[in-house]
Amino acid sequence: MAEEFRALVVEKTDAGVTASIRRLTDKDLMPGDVDVHVEYSTLNYKDGLAVAGRPGVIRKYPLIPGIDLAGEVISSHDATFKVGESVLVNGWGMGESHHGGFAERARVPAGWLTRMPKGMTARETMAVGTAGYTAALCVLELIAQGVAPSSGPIVVTGAAGGVGSVAIVLLASQGYHVVALTGRPEEGDYLRDLGAKEIMPRGELEVDVKPLSKERFAGAVDSVGSKILANILSMTKAGGTVTACGLAAGMDLPATVAPFILRGVRLSGVNSVYEPAAKRQRAWEMIAQHLNKTKLSEMAEEITLEEVPAAAQAILAGKIRGRTVIRLAA
Ligand code: NDP
Repeated sequence: MAEEFRALVVEKTDAGVTASIRRLTDKDLMPGDVDVHVEYSTLNYKDGLAVAGRPGVIRKYPLIPGIDLAGEVISSHDATFKVGESVLVNGWGMGESHHGGFAERARVPAGWLTRMPKGMTARETMAVGTAGYTAALCVLELIAQGVAPSSGPIVVTGAAGGVGSVAIVLLASQGYHVVALTGRPEEGDYLRDLGAKEIMPRGELEVDVKPLSKERFAGAVDSVGSKILANILSMTKAGGTVTACGLAAGMDLPATVAPFILRGVRLSGVNSVYEPAAKRQRAWEMIAQHLNKTKLSEMAEEITLEEVPAAAQAILAGKIRGRTVIRLAA
C-alpha cells in the first residue's frame, strides 16, 4: 500500500473555499524530479491569503498551499540532487499552481531546489522564508544601487512583520541606520532589539502626499505600498533608491513623478518568485552571513499544521510579529 502523508488541502466547492488536513499518497503529488521529506515550512502573507480562501494566489484547486519548504531529498531522478541532501524551495509558483510546503511530502522540479545554506538548519531557513529572502533581495538591490551606510537612514515599513523584521536585522548588521515604521508602537522594544535606531509611527507616513517633502531617507525597504510608499518617495534624498516588494497597505501608489525627475530617486520593484538560481544563492549567502541566529530565533514562532488556518487569519489582520515556522515531520 502506498505510504500516506499529511497535507493541508485548500478546496473550492459550492459552499466556498475550505482548508482541511487530509491524508494523501504519492499519487496525489504533481510532476517533478525530486521528492522531499518536508521538515519545516513557514507562513507568509501570501499563504495567509491562500489558506483563508482569498482570491489571487491559488490558481488551481484543490491545492496544498505553502510557498516555502525545507527538508531532505528522499528520491531523485536528477543528477544534481542526491538522496539525503538538505534542500529548500521558495517561489516558482509553489503553493500557487503547484502543491506547496504545507505537507509532509513534496515533489518538485530539480531546478526549483536551493541547497541548504552552510551553517543553517531547515528550521532556520524557514524562519527566514520567502519574506526574509525577499528582504535580502531588497537589501542587495540597495547595495547594488550604491546606497551605503554613509548615505543616510534607511526606512523599513511593515517593520514588525516578516519582511520588515528580517530587513532590519540585515541592514543593521551591515552598519545601516534603520528607521522602523510601524503601526504597533508596543513593538518598539522588539524593533530596537532587532537593530532599529529610530521607531516611526505609521501615521506619520499616512498623511496626504506632497510632490516633494524634506529629504530624509537614503533608501527604503517597503512591503506596504500605497500612500506610505508615495510619502517615502517624496522624502527620499537625491539619488536614493526605494525598493518596493509588498502591498500590505494597498496596491495603489498615489505619487507624482517629482521625486524621479527632480531628485533622480529610483524605485526598484522586487519580485522574489522567479529570481534565477545565482541571485537566490547570493541572497541566501547574505542571510547566512549577516542574520544573527539569536535574533532569528527571537523573531520566529513555531506552530503545527493544525494551527495554520488560525495563523492565516492573524497574518491577514496584521497581528503576527516576525515570522511563523510550521513544523511538519521532525
Ligand atoms: P506580514 O503580515 O508579516 O507583515 C506586514 C506588515 O505590514 C505588518 O506586520 C504591519 O507591520 C504592516 N501592515 C499591515 N497592515 C498595514 C496597513 N494597512 N498599512 C500599513 N502597514 C500595514 O507580511 P510579510 O512581511 O510576509 O509580507 C509583507 C508584504 O510583502 C505582503 O504584501 C506580501 O505579499 C509581500 N511580499 C512580496 C514578495 C515579493 O516577492 N514581492 C515576497 C514576500 C512578501 P507593522 O505592524 O509593523 O506596521
